[in-house]
Amino acid sequence: METIAIIGGGAAGLAAAVAAGEAARARGCAVRVVVYEASDRVGRSILATGNGRCNFSNAVVDAARYRNGAFVAAALGALEEAAGTADAPAPEAGAAADGAAGAAAGASGAAGAGAGSSNAVLRFFADHGLLWRRESEGRLYPLANKATSVLDVLRAAAAAVGAQERCGIAVAAVEPPRGAGRPFTLRLADGRLERAAAVIVAVGGALPAGLLPAELPVAPPQPTLGPLATEARWCRRLDNIRVRGALELRRDDALRAREPGEVMFRKYGVSGIAAFNLSRLAQPGDVLAVDFVPAVEAAAMADFLRERCCRLDAVLGRAATWDDMLRGMVLGPVAEVLLDAAGLRGGAPVATGEVPAMAAVLKGLRLPVTGLGDPRQCQVHRGGLRASAVDVATCAVVAVPGLFVVGEALDVDAPCGGYNLHWAWASGLLAGRAAVARMAGRPESKERAR
Ligand SMILES: Cc1cc2nc3c(=O)[nH]c(=O)nc-3n(C[C@H](O)[C@H](O)[C@H](O)COP(=O)(O)OP(=O)(O)OC[C@H]3O[C@@H](n4cnc5c(N)ncnc54)[C@H](O)[C@@H]3O)c2cc1C
Repeated sequence: METIAIIGGGAAGLAAAVAAGEAARARGCAVRVVVYEASDRVGRSILATGNGRCNFSNAVVDAARYRNGAFVAAALGALEEAAGTADAPAPEAGAAADGAAGAAAGASGAAGAGAGSSNAVLRFFADHGLLWRRESEGRLYPLANKATSVLDVLRAAAAAVGAQERCGIAVAAVEPPRGAGRPFTLRLADGRLERAAAVIVAVGGALPAGLLPAELPVAPPQPTLGPLATEARWCRRLDNIRVRGALELRRDDALRAREPGEVMFRKYGVSGIAAFNLSRLAQPGDVLAVDFVPAVEAAAMADFLRERCCRLDAVLGRAATWDDMLRGMVLGPVAEVLLDAAGLRGGAPVATGEVPAMAAVLKGLRLPVTGLGDPRQCQVHRGGLRASAVDVATCAVVAVPGLFVVGEALDVDAPCGGYNLHWAWASGLLAGRAAVARMAGRPESKERAR
């Protein structure tokens, strides 16, 4: 029986294993699906996602949010086409943004109108029994609110089609066939050699050097989607304080991007989803501007402060100080930093001429970016096999027939929100099915690679 070897039992690898096993069963094709996983169990990476809750997809998957967005759009389109879901609504198991779960959505997509351009991934999960709910910004989480729920569904589906898990086995190199109809050689880290008729590389973002054939174009993996290090003068004083605000990324004083959301100050800079998302764009020399009062427009901030001052003067029966002005708007340590940044004294009554300085720091405390904060906290890697090297409808490496590269091992990444896992599932499904289709279409391949 021929073997499809899947290198990596994470998100993309497990999706590929299920897809390959099911495609083989549907075609009556005798294929052995083997998942080689370096760690002691498959799916560890999935369990770590979404703070253990697994934000496994998004109700609206906009391909423009991905690096190599045109490639991702075409790949997601191919998946819909293959699943016959291109015009169907996405199955929607979470009924409302407040997270109340609705009825199970099966392949019929019975539970209501879906939003979003891609639904084959959701349909895959619905078919395999996963219920989920929708939270803010379209983020989808399993109904059980635990990542293990997603992993359990995948492992059960993989087991049902006889996919084999081989844990504790790292593959060091994938060597292409040495002639037509011959198998791939997998060079294992312990020196052993194994063979496979097709190989799906799903090792995640830190694509190990030497794993893929040397001639393939690989952009060196770099961690991203993590905290940002900034000149730390203010941040050190605010360590561990969270603010519901917004971050702006500025380069040469021009606005590059704005991310509303939680900003968490750390000794070295800023963390939280807004910083994570901006880390994909930021470079040393850029400036982060923290907006502490997103509800008030920058142009209206000075008037807002003047009105606030008048009201406080009246209520307090004396001239309001800057301490009075900032109390109830920001936390005490933040107020101290803002006063220092604006060059003002908290105990002094507000002077009209001081208002613009405070308005400026409230709407944009400047933090010059020095680099990534802590690479170990980064959620994805930029880089990997260049998207141009693979066929968009199958993730097959064009120069090496029978080799597929999926998930983060490709040069695809996206902001927080379930997009990265969505890509992992989608690309794994494409490659798993395509690997079987390729083998089923090769009459000479029977019984060749054991
Ligand atoms: C803390 C954290 C939280 C995250 N939260 C989210 C989230 O909520 N939503 C979201 O969309 N994305 C999230 N991500 C990103 C998401 O986890 C990844 O984009 C996704 O898992 C990539 O899938 P993958 O299959 O390509 O790689 P992985 O899931 O990383 O799987 C790769 C697998 O390959 C194995 N492996 C590596 N090298 C070898 C080798 N040589 N031989 C054999 N096996 C090997 C690894 O052990 C691993 O099991 C998060 C990431 C992190 C780090």
